[in-house]
Amino acid sequence: MAKGDSIIGSIFKFMALLGGAWLTIEVLKAISKKVTYYDCPKCGSDIEYGQENCNVCGVGLDWENSKIEANAENTN
Ligand SMILES: [Zn+2]
Repeated sequence: MAKGDSIIGSIFKFMALLGGAWLTIEVLKAISKKVTYYDCPKCGSDIEYGQENCNVCGVGLDWENSKIEANAENTN
């Protein structure tokens, strides 16, 4: 039954390859989902670019004339 064993071995190898490919895709998805957050100028909470108001303190966010800085440490 050496032939059968080698087929099972091939299937296992194929499954391992599929698992590796799946993992790679999941990792890539996680990386591409990364959003850069900015610091709210008033309370320092994480805000996303283009938000009109901070969702924590509610301050209006002026993206064109502001000193809002990217929060490089808080990418998610
Ligand atoms: Zn705020």
